[in-house]
Amino acid sequence: MSIAHAQPSKTENARFDVYKGNFVEKLWKINPSWASSVGYHKYDDVLIVPDAASRATELSFCKKELDTLKTFNVNNLTDANRTDYLMIQSYLKNTEWSIAQLKGYEWDPSVYNVSGLFADILGNEYDLLDNRLRSFYRKLIFVPAYYEAAKNNIKNPTLEHTALAIEQNMGGIPVFETDLKEALAKSSLSEGEKTQYAAAAALAVTAIKDYAEWLGKLDNKTPRSFRLGKKLYEEKFGHELQSGFTAEEIYKQAIAHKKELHTKMYATTQRLWTKYYKTAMPADTLTAIRQMIDRLSDDHVTAVGFQTAIEEQLPELAAFIKRKDLLFIDPTKPLVVRKEPAYMAGVAGASINSPGPYDKNGNTYYNVGSLEGWDKDKAESYLREYNKYILQILNIHEAIPGHYTQLVYANQSPSIIKSILGNNAMIEGWAVYAELMMLENGYGAIPLSPTDEAPPEMWLMYYKWNMRSTCNTILDYSVHTANMSKDAAMKLLVNEAFQQQAEAEGKWKRVTVSQVQLCCYFTGFTEICNLRDAMKKKSGKNFSLKQFHEQFLSYGSAPVKHIRALMLK
Ligand code: ZN
Ligand code: ZN
Repeated sequence: MSIAHAQPSKTENARFDVYKGNFVEKLWKINPSWASSVGYHKYDDVLIVPDAASRATELSFCKKELDTLKTFNVNNLTDANRTDYLMIQSYLKNTEWSIAQLKGYEWDPSVYNVSGLFADILGNEYDLLDNRLRSFYRKLIFVPAYYEAAKNNIKNPTLEHTALAIEQNMGGIPVFETDLKEALAKSSLSEGEKTQYAAAAALAVTAIKDYAEWLGKLDNKTPRSFRLGKKLYEEKFGHELQSGFTAEEIYKQAIAHKKELHTKMYATTQRLWTKYYKTAMPADTLTAIRQMIDRLSDDHVTAVGFQTAIEEQLPELAAFIKRKDLLFIDPTKPLVVRKEPAYMAGVAGASINSPGPYDKNGNTYYNVGSLEGWDKDKAESYLREYNKYILQILNIHEAIPGHYTQLVYANQSPSIIKSILGNNAMIEGWAVYAELMMLENGYGAIPLSPTDEAPPEMWLMYYKWNMRSTCNTILDYSVHTANMSKDAAMKLLVNEAFQQQAEAEGKWKRVTVSQVQLCCYFTGFTEICNLRDAMKKKSGKNFSLKQFHEQFLSYGSAPVKHIRALMLK
């Protein structure tokens, strides 16, 4: 049987465009909080009470939409619509599976928490304060019913998610006390309204405290394990990451990659040893690598110079990419660097803050945190972690040509579907790939050095950084499917991935309350590297790295396996 390469059909694509518009409208109606978070404010005053009826509504929405999708012939759609189609389909199937099979609403009490939704209304100035407060109030009315439904849903929760739920719900209370009080004082609402709103907030706080207390006293003799188990884990991996590989396949590749990284790290340590140490190199390879990393971590900026160091690197990265002709970077869309806004204070490092799909004129910000007010030891340990080398890799990852550059490309073929259902493995995978690609092309070379190669110091620190995402995958898979103990996990992270004890402890906590998410970096990275190899094979001597990057990014934040099918077709 031969299926001819159908030409995109104009009428079918037009019909699909209409379908997408309707789909998104309906999606927001049943997910009002998600809508608010992406800047769609029509349903700001609605809070869905998470009961059986709301789950039934969601399931029937999924079924109906999946049926409608069947009326399209995916082969008649343009590349952009085809990937949108596949992403909508995956989203719907994932939602069905999450409700019917995963059932997190039963065993994960931390899915119930309203403070973030309310904090957004107060903190996000998309409308006049008075209007936002009115939405806040109307939404507030639902809070007691929301937590009653939560209590009805919970069965046999895990101890880890129970503790997290108590901690996070109690932590959110200031939103309804301090933050609301301040906002009311600034508003021009009447005294009557202010009293009414404060009273509703008091009832919400009571509901939250009651929920936390109820969880604390729960008679939970046979708690569910936080470990997902192999079957659910594989399924979740498939639904969420949309990878061309299974979780087990990715895990095996991560194990092999870890071994490869250790070999490279040892060879690099041997190369560097006499430059930094007069003593003999330790016989144990992991000990030798660790000592080399420790020594290189001494090279770090000062706490005061931290922000400036980050800011100064961005034009250097852009200039390097231009000089090496690695991909086009639109000079009309410069990245706006800003000091972290007050509500993010205390989060050091750097992160990208992009406007939502409904805020087209918004700037993309590079939030740079400061270490102001940190105690000396904490700051020193942080600066050693984000030393001279890692800081550059961080900028590559977050900004240029990582997340920020990917976003600029994604915006050139705007798709509301890809911006709301964007594939995390592709997004993180690109940023992780960008780190390797920059070093391969000699980033960090001593100016005018005849070799034009990234120095071994840069490589060693890169390997350590790359080891982190590699071990994230090994950890996540082993903990959830193979019963890895905390002891074994700490050995992996501290001894083999050279992490600090505190960082490893934090990672352990994260793996006990999340599943699959820690795999998205390595999975996307592996798939992009594989695709690049396949394109090299296909194009032979005509392969152009620049063309590969630009074509890859032109499809937007779609799963790598869909991009792969389009690029290799
Ligand atoms: Zn120091
Ligand atoms: Zn990232």
